[in-house]
Amino acid sequence: MTVIIAGAGIGGLTTALMCHARGIPCVIYEAAREVREVGVGINVLPHAIRELAGLGLLPALDKVGVRTRKLTYLTRQGQEVWSELRGMHAGHEVPQFSIHRGRLQKAIHDAVIDRLGPGAIRTGRRLAGFVQDEAGVTAHFTDAAEGGAGETVRGEVLICADGIHSAGRRVFYPNEGAPSWQGVVMWRGAAEWPVWEDGESMAIGGGLGGKFVLYPIAPATGKTQLMNWVVNVRIKDPAVSTPPPDNWSRQAPLANVLPHALRFHVPGMDIAGLVRATPAIYEYPMADRDPLPRWTFGRVTLLGDAAHPMYPVGSNGASQAILDARCLADALAGAEHPRAALWAYEKERLPKTADVVRTNRVGGPERVIDAVEKLAPAGFRDIDKVLSHEDRKAIVGGYAAMAGFSQVRRAS
Ligand SMILES: Cc1cc2nc3c(=O)[nH]c(=O)nc-3n(C[C@H](O)[C@H](O)[C@H](O)COP(=O)(O)OP(=O)(O)OC[C@H]3O[C@@H](n4cnc5c(N)ncnc54)[C@H](O)[C@@H]3O)c2cc1C
Repeated sequence: MTVIIAGAGIGGLTTALMCHARGIPCVIYEAAREVREVGVGINVLPHAIRELAGLGLLPALDKVGVRTRKLTYLTRQGQEVWSELRGMHAGHEVPQFSIHRGRLQKAIHDAVIDRLGPGAIRTGRRLAGFVQDEAGVTAHFTDAAEGGAGETVRGEVLICADGIHSAGRRVFYPNEGAPSWQGVVMWRGAAEWPVWEDGESMAIGGGLGGKFVLYPIAPATGKTQLMNWVVNVRIKDPAVSTPPPDNWSRQAPLANVLPHALRFHVPGMDIAGLVRATPAIYEYPMADRDPLPRWTFGRVTLLGDAAHPMYPVGSNGASQAILDARCLADALAGAEHPRAALWAYEKERLPKTADVVRTNRVGGPERVIDAVEKLAPAGFRDIDKVLSHEDRKAIVGGYAAMAGFSQVRRAS
C-alpha cells in the first residue's frame, strides 16, 4: 500500500512518521516551495507528546521547546482564577510542550527526511484534484510555482492534511464557503525577553471577548528567553464586517494591537514593553469550521485542520492532528482493506474532535475566566466566594477529560 499525503504541516508529517513506523510507504506533497519555520507559539498536550515520544522525538523537542510547568488563568486585571501544574509536573508520564510552531514542524520534518529519505517530501506541489476507482486513487498536484508540469501520482489512499483551506475538503463540500468567524482578531508575536517567573509557565488573562496569552517557547539563553504572546479581541461584528485575510504570515503594525494589549495585566510582566519589543506582529482572524458529518469518501479522507479546524483554545490544534495521525496509521496497519481503515479512523476520531471544536467555540477551559469575570466584573477579594473551587475545577477538568488529556498512558 502507498499512502499519498497532501500537506506537510504537523498533521501530515506526523502521519508519515507513523505510517513509516508500521512499514507503510508514503509520500507527502506540500504546496509551499520549502518547509520554513513559520508561525509563533503553540502548545502540545501530553496525550499528543506521548505519540511524538513514541516516535523518538523527545530529545529533538527538548532542544527547541519548553516543558510547560504551570498554567494560570487570570482575570483581565490580573487576579488569579485558577492555577494548575501541567505535563509531568501534574503526574503525566510525558511533558506538555510550549514550542515555536515552525521549530516543532522542523523537528518532525527532519525526522521524516532522516527516516523516509529526501524524496519523501515533494515541495511546490499543490493538491488540485483526484479520482478513485476500485483499485486505488490518482491524485493530481499542480506546480505551486506555476509554469511547471505538476505531478500525477497513484496510491491506495489519499490523506488530505492540507489545513483549514483544504482542497480535499472542498471537493467533498464544495458549498461550504469561508471559515466561520465571530469577530475576534488575534495578534501574535514572540520576542526575546527577560525570563518571566520560572521560565516554564504560562498565563492566560481574560476570556472569550478579549484575552492575553503568555508563555515562553524556547529554552532560556542566559537571562532572556523567547516569549510568545497572543492578544485576542472581539473587535468587529461578524454580521456586518468581513474578517481580515486569514494568512498566518500576514504582519500588522504595532498601533493595531497596542491599545488592546494595554487592557490586560499579568503580574510581573510589562505587557506593553514585550509587545513593543516584538520584531514581527502577526494578525489573523480567529476562525474555525462546523464539524462535518463525514471525512472519508472511499479511499480519501481528511486529517488535522482539514478535518476539524478549531479555535486555538485549550492547546488542541496541533495536539488533535497528532492524535489523528496515530489513529489513522494504526487503522491502515490493521485493516483488511484501505477503505475499511479510513472508516475506522473516522469513526474513532470524528466525534471526539467535533466535541473539541464545539467546546472551544464557547471558550473551552477558559470559560472559567468568563464565569468569574461575569460574577465579579470589578474584581474580588476572595475567589472562592465568587465561584467555588469545585465549580472552577469542574469547568477546567471537564475540558481536559473531553479533549482526552486528563489521563495519559505510557508511550508505546
Ligand atoms: C504557516 C502556518 C503558520 C501557523 N502558525 C500558527 C501559530 O503561530 N499558532 C497556532 O496555534 N497555529 C498556527 N498554525 C496552525 C497550526 O499549525 C495547526 O492548527 C495545527 O498544527 C494542525 O496542523 P495541520 O497539519 O492539520 O495543518 P497546517 O499546519 O495548516 O498544515 C497544512 C499544510 O498543508 C499545506 N497545504 C495547504 N494546501 C495544500 C494543497 N492544496 N496541497 C498540498 N499542500 C497544501 C500547507 O502549506 C501546510 O504546510 C499555523 C499554520 C500554518 C500553515
